Amino acid sequence: MPCRPRPVRIFLVTLGLFCLSSLRAEGPDAETVLRAFQHSYPEKISDVVFTDGDWTVRAGDKIFFWAGGRLLPAPLREKAESFSPHVFEIYPRLVPSPAIYSPRYAEYLRLQGSAEARRNREDHNRDFQAALFGGPGRRDIESRLENGEFLGKKIVVHEDIVQALKRVEAAIRKMAADDSRPGNSEISAFIDSIGQVGAYNWRAIRGTRRMSYHSWGLAVDIQPKKLDGRAIYWLWERYRNDNWMLVPLEKRWSPPERVIEAFEHEGFVWGGKWPLYDNMHFEYRPELHEINRLLAASSSGISPFDDARSPASGQDLHHLYPDDITGRKRKRQDPAPGVFYFGARRLFAKTASYKKADYKMEGG
Ligand SMILES: [Zn+2]
Repeated sequence: MPCRPRPVRIFLVTLGLFCLSSLRAEGPDAETVLRAFQHSYPEKISDVVFTDGDWTVRAGDKIFFWAGGRLLPAPLREKAESFSPHVFEIYPRLVPSPAIYSPRYAEYLRLQGSAEARRNREDHNRDFQAALFGGPGRRDIESRLENGEFLGKKIVVHEDIVQALKRVEAAIRKMAADDSRPGNSEISAFIDSIGQVGAYNWRAIRGTRRMSYHSWGLAVDIQPKKLDGRAIYWLWERYRNDNWMLVPLEKRWSPPERVIEAFEHEGFVWGGKWPLYDNMHFEYRPELHEINRLLAASSSGISPFDDARSPASGQDLHHLYPDDITGRKRKRQDPAPGVFYFGARRLFAKTASYKKADYKMEGG
C-alpha cells in the first residue's frame, strides 16, 4: 500500500476526529504518541516508523500499528473497528474546575457516565500493554508483582513501578519533614489521614468491560480514613447526586497539591484531573507527560524529537479542551489552548470564588 503524504493524512485524521464528535478533545497525533512511548519505555519500545499506510512501533518482539489509536498487531488491523482506541488525552496541568463547565458539557459528562454508555463501551486490545508489562493473562501479570509499603501501608504493585513509587514516597516524606514547624503540617496531616492504600486488584473498571490499571498493578488508590461528606469518586457520588460532575473542587477530597506533583514528577497521572474524577487514584502513564512535552516543544518551533528530558518535564503545556466545556468559542489570538484554565489554580484552593447557587447542587 503506498504511503499517503503526511499533511494529507493529518488532515484526514483531524477531519475524522471532528466528525466523530464535536465534543471530543482533539487528541495528539500518532507519531507524537508513539515517540512519547518510545521515550518513556526506552528498553521496551523502539522503531517509530511510517510504513504500510500507518505509523508503527516495535514493542518487545512485535510490531504494532497505530490503527486510529488502537495499537494493533498486523493481523488485527482488519478488525480495528471492534476495539476501542486507547485514551491519549492531553493530561492537564491544572485541575479542570466544574465552575467553568457549560450546561452542554455537563450533559455530555452525564451521558458518558450513564450505565448504558459504560456497559456498551468496547474494550481495548490488550496486546500492546502486554508487550510492555506482561500479561494480559492474570497469571503472567501476577508473576511480575512485588510486595511493598507505601506511606506505612502494605501494597502490591507491578515490579516496573516499585522504584518510581519509592521516589514518590521519599519526596512526600521529605516535604513532611521540611514542614514540621508548628502550623505548617499539611503533608504530615495528609499522611496521618490515610486509611488505606490499594494497588493491584484484578478487576474490570466498575460497570465496564475494560480492564482497570489496577489489574496490571500500575495504579494506586489513596483513601482517607474520613471523607466528611466530600466526594472522592464520581461513580460513588452519582449514587447520591445527579449533578455529580458539578461538585465543586473544594467539596471533593483531594491529596495536597504537592503530593499530586510528587506523583506526576515520577510519571503518574492523578484521577482528580479527569472530568469523571477519581480523586484517590494515581496511575503510571509517563507517556502522557511526555506527549505534553513533545507538543509543547513542537509548538515552540524546536524539533521535539532530538533531546531527552525527564518524562515529567512537559508540565508547561496547558490542557487542550473542546470549546464546549465553556460554551465559549476560542479565538485565534488566544495565547494558548489552556486559556480555559485561567483561574483554575485559584479555584482549586479553598478560597474558591464561584457561587454554589450557580449550580443548584442537590445532596452534594
Ligand atoms: Zn484506582
